[in-house]
Amino acid sequence: MINNDISLKAMNTFGIDASAKRFTIIRDEKDIKTVLDAKEHDPIFILGGGSNILFTQDFDGLVIKNEIQGFNTIEDNKDYAIIESGAGEVWHEFVMKCIDKNLGGIENLSLIPGNVGASPMQNIGAYGVEIKDVFEYLDAYHIKDRKIQRFNAQECKFGYRESVFKNELKGQYIICKVAFRLTKKHDLKTSYGAIENELRSMNKINPSIRDVSDAVINIRQSKLPDPKQIGNAGSFFKNPIVSTELLNEIQSKYADIPNYPATQNKVKLAAGWLIEKAGWKGRTYDERYGVHKLQALVLVNYNRTNGDEILKLSALIIEDVKAKFNVTLEREVNIL
Ligand SMILES: Cc1cc2nc3c(=O)[nH]c(=O)nc-3n(C[C@H](O)[C@H](O)[C@H](O)COP(=O)(O)OP(=O)(O)OC[C@H]3O[C@@H](n4cnc5c(N)ncnc54)[C@H](O)[C@@H]3O)c2cc1C
Repeated sequence: MINNDISLKAMNTFGIDASAKRFTIIRDEKDIKTVLDAKEHDPIFILGGGSNILFTQDFDGLVIKNEIQGFNTIEDNKDYAIIESGAGEVWHEFVMKCIDKNLGGIENLSLIPGNVGASPMQNIGAYGVEIKDVFEYLDAYHIKDRKIQRFNAQECKFGYRESVFKNELKGQYIICKVAFRLTKKHDLKTSYGAIENELRSMNKINPSIRDVSDAVINIRQSKLPDPKQIGNAGSFFKNPIVSTELLNEIQSKYADIPNYPATQNKVKLAAGWLIEKAGWKGRTYDERYGVHKLQALVLVNYNRTNGDEILKLSALIIEDVKAKFNVTLEREVNIL
């Protein structure tokens, strides 16, 4: 069923009060065909958990909320299992189900908001793991050709917070299922961030995948604002990748700048550090919106802001960081 003029406020974690001219929910692949056959719908926007989008205006088209469920074991042997999940499953619940079955590889990605179907969109990542590390395939419905197509990891062209679906195939597919190859002999990634310290304070000497997940949950809850309390979409900007020459220039003024090796002759900088050093951390505007007080990378909606104000704030930050460090920040959040 297609409804008209539906508020999306409760369906985006920024809590922006935008509406959809037309809105529908799909629960299986057959629903997609029924919705698309009913009428020409242009433009179309596929909505998951709404945790990586910023509405700057009402959506003058059809919003399709993907609620396709499912958790199926495709292959199971002594070393690994391949699990296929419906795109509309909540990502964190999927991670928890896998951990319950002692299937590892995604424990570091615990508590990332949103749905499984969006996880390949920007190759979600946290604490040294990205979904490309465990990705097996996805099935996506081509909106124009009206058929399902399977993509392997190579075809998804995963990069840092990137995939083909955010670039050349943007807006063309509805991801219906995603399959992951998960381990039974675990290779824990605990050296990144504060995981080791947290495990120590939890007294876990030989941690399990559940312990690592618990540690990640503790760290995330202490650092990141909960969208149920303060509207936000997590990191608003990507961590920039710059040349070593530029790093050297910045280091001549700021010797303590954090940097991590990236590809050849390139380093990754911490966008949050740059924004904080530029003086933006904790800034608020009329107590309605601003930059989070603990995490400079997170822009927040305290109360009744609109997406346009947040977008303008992000533009000011990009301009200022460029002026101070000669680094161009890119937005991670999808702007609508
Ligand atoms: C507090 C907080 C912390 C976060 N931490 C992290 C983090 O650590 N790492 C990280 O990578 N991200 C993080 N994010 C961002 C976000 O959680 C992820 O990007 C997540 O994958 C978005 O999922 P979603 O279902 O909410 O997608 P949405 O916001 O609904 O959609 C995002 C994009 O994907 C498209 N899309 C969604 N589902 C489908 C589908 N089935 N088919 C086709 N297109 C689709 C949408 O059209 C849109 O372009 C965080 C967000 C918040 C609020």
